[in-house]
Amino acid sequence: MSALLRATGIRKAFGQREVLRGVGVDLATHEVVALIGASGSGKSTLLRCLNLLEPIDDGQIFLGDEDISDPRVDANRVRARFGAVFQAYNLFPHLSVLDNVTLASRVVHRMPRAAAEDRAMGLLTRVGLLEHAREHPDRLSGGQQQRAAIARAIATDPEVLFLDEITSALDPELVGEVLELVRSLADEGATILMATHEMAFARDVANRVLFLDEGVVVEEGPPAEVLAAPREARTRAFLSRFT
Ligand code: ADP
Ligand code: MG
Repeated sequence: MSALLRATGIRKAFGQREVLRGVGVDLATHEVVALIGASGSGKSTLLRCLNLLEPIDDGQIFLGDEDISDPRVDANRVRARFGAVFQAYNLFPHLSVLDNVTLASRVVHRMPRAAAEDRAMGLLTRVGLLEHAREHPDRLSGGQQQRAAIARAIATDPEVLFLDEITSALDPELVGEVLELVRSLADEGATILMATHEMAFARDVANRVLFLDEGVVVEEGPPAEVLAAPREARTRAFLSRFT
């Protein structure tokens, strides 16, 4: 089976510190993969490398048949095929929610404003933010901001959605509304790679879980194996903190 996104042997160092030490990941269309691991294990760096936000030192990244890690590749063109949501505060503060959602469609994909806004209003309805479309992000709760960030990320119909601990900066009572939205995207067939500390959510929604420790994938497999019956001592030690 051919993966939509496939990375092999990814290495990344910051100065002397090697943060990714030969990581392989693959993601099939419609697959939801959860990336788990302690803080500092390299999850965000891996997502940023796959997203072409960070250059890699070694390895290869394929999107379909194309080697997107080739330095001659236009990273902006590739990133236009991805959507990403980060921990928090990644909406443009000076733009309304609506303009945040339409920006990439208008600027990157050159969609006319009226069409982009039509589509954005539909998305904002879906994420329950229609009445906040004209407000600035600072008027919204953290959960609403993350739902707006998700609407923005999916506005361009990305082939892969990267989610980096999108609920970890939220007050606990706001986590559920954001996870429910991610679950509905997964149910509709989105292809998602998400770093998360929400183990119950990973167990319910992910098709596969990948445990990263000190820059290597220690264990991967279906949630029922990795989360419920981990083979590796390091996975067990990590998971014991969540019970
Ligand atoms: P995680 O997301 O799993 O918490 P990160 O990928 O953020 O892990 O970080 C992995 C390691 O890389 C950490 O030690 C972090 O300090 C380091 N790191 C991440 N980004 C940078 C950077 N831009 N410059 C230097 N070190 C970094
Ligand atoms: Mg991180």
